[in-house]
Amino acid sequence: MAADKMMQFVSVPQALPHKRAVDERVHDFGEIYDRFTPAHAAQQASRCEQCGIPFCHIHCPVQNHIPDWLRMTAEGRLEEAWELNAATNNLPEICGRICPQDRLCEGNCVIEKGFNAVTIGTVERFINDTAFERGWIKPNKPLRERPQSVGVIGAGPAGLAVADQLRKEGWQVHVYDRYDRVGGLMIYGIPGFKLEKDVVVRRWRLLEEGGVQFHLGCDIGAPGSPGFAELRSRHDAIFIGTGVYKARALQVPGVGLPGVVPALAYLTASNRKSLGDDVPAFDEGTLSAEGKHVVVVGGGDTAMDCVRTAIRQGALSVKCLYRRDKQNMPGSMREVKHAEEEGVEFVWLSAPEAFIGQDRVEAVRAIRMRLGTPDSTGRQSPELVPDSGFRLPADLVVGALGFDPEDHVTMFGEPELKVSRWGTITIDWSTMQTSMPGVFAGGDIVRGASLVVWGIRDGRDAAASIHRHLLACAADGSALAEAA
Ligand code: FAD
Ligand code: SF4
Ligand code: SF4
Repeated sequence: MAADKMMQFVSVPQALPHKRAVDERVHDFGEIYDRFTPAHAAQQASRCEQCGIPFCHIHCPVQNHIPDWLRMTAEGRLEEAWELNAATNNLPEICGRICPQDRLCEGNCVIEKGFNAVTIGTVERFINDTAFERGWIKPNKPLRERPQSVGVIGAGPAGLAVADQLRKEGWQVHVYDRYDRVGGLMIYGIPGFKLEKDVVVRRWRLLEEGGVQFHLGCDIGAPGSPGFAELRSRHDAIFIGTGVYKARALQVPGVGLPGVVPALAYLTASNRKSLGDDVPAFDEGTLSAEGKHVVVVGGGDTAMDCVRTAIRQGALSVKCLYRRDKQNMPGSMREVKHAEEEGVEFVWLSAPEAFIGQDRVEAVRAIRMRLGTPDSTGRQSPELVPDSGFRLPADLVVGALGFDPEDHVTMFGEPELKVSRWGTITIDWSTMQTSMPGVFAGGDIVRGASLVVWGIRDGRDAAASIHRHLLACAADGSALAEAA
């Protein structure tokens, strides 16, 4: 029966849901793909070959049981498909939307070469959006409440996965975040055209209804908020999921001119505006691209989000300046394609030399690059092409060169907290525990800038370890608070 429905990849071509026309989608921040219909989802799921050793599953960071829920979807057993998917992923409807599937599950699907991969992410999104609509997803109400509590610093995907997993076990979970909303970069970094905000808010409400207590506007270690030591004394274990927020600086003359802004400030203003907040820097034009010539410097996914945001804000022109070529850029090719369709001009093999202007930026002086000999990682290093300078008009320059961790040792006043030479928090990967007993960490603050799905994986691993730790503490009657 199953075999009859499956392995249709030879006769059924790969198809994505309808993609909104460029002319329409560049005027709003809605997602660009519609949803599969049930028939369409079943048909696309039926393309799966049901591999004995599924490489899609191996390369999915949360090890989703992909062939099994694809089969259930193809057979119309959607509630079972959702249950199985939810067992390994705390935010499947979000991963289905924004995982770079071409580098993970779908990029490793065996039918990718020759027949094009099964559209795994889109099916995952379909299963879970359907589950929400049909009311199958309920808040996790634990069977029994346990008195011990866990303090989670950071309400991004890593912190939310920890909170969800530990709440299911009945532990008291308190999540602290410096932002006024839950979701971390999912709410204020990633634009709505990739991930609509109500999808994130829906999860926030569900966790709250399940008993997770959120303390928002609480910047641990900053004046006016509890310090790290205080949090340790309040809770029996701590999870740090604070992400990476220090923008790598553009190091060229003129960087201090008004009109040269960091990517996250720019994207946060845009996301806040979409959420209905008052954003004076946006309304006054400092953080808006409307009517401007925009140059975004960088070639990663953050740069792609900035250029596509600028298009939607009504920029006069949007250019992306990247020092390597298209083949060597770190951003997802899928996102580059969307950006090109939407009218972004890529200026490959080019780097800024200076930002020019009197009272504010007026132009970027750039220079051509070429790819030289490979470095120790095998990647070709960009080299300057002499006498190749050129100018681009620019009223807004957005620097999107990546992020580094803030100094957590100082922020938390904890010299005992071991960090790497890059400033990421060092953990024992077998337990997710930091150098401090009872203090665990995961997500970007451990890995460096990474992905939502890796944050979820870390959160799940840390939650399992925290659960064992709390059981051991409860058994011998000693809580972290007493040990500290
Ligand atoms: P975060 O999501 O950064 O959350 C950390 C939270 O900790 C934040 O809410 C912050 O306010 C809080 N915090 C920090 N310090 C403190 C403190 N002292 N006290 C209290 N709270 C604190 N990944 C994908 O998979 N797909 C994508 O398409 C994608 N696009 C991206 C686009 C952009 C513009 C950016 C910047 C990132 C993108 N990413 C994407 C990466 C992804 O968002 C991150 O890898 C992921 O959010 C990391 O999760 P996290 O929980 O570790 O940290
Ligand atoms: Fe693919 Fe991400 Fe879903 Fe895993 S979680 S199956 S990598 S879309
Ligand atoms: Fe199906 Fe592709 Fe996974 Fe094989 S690799 S089980 S064909 S989705």
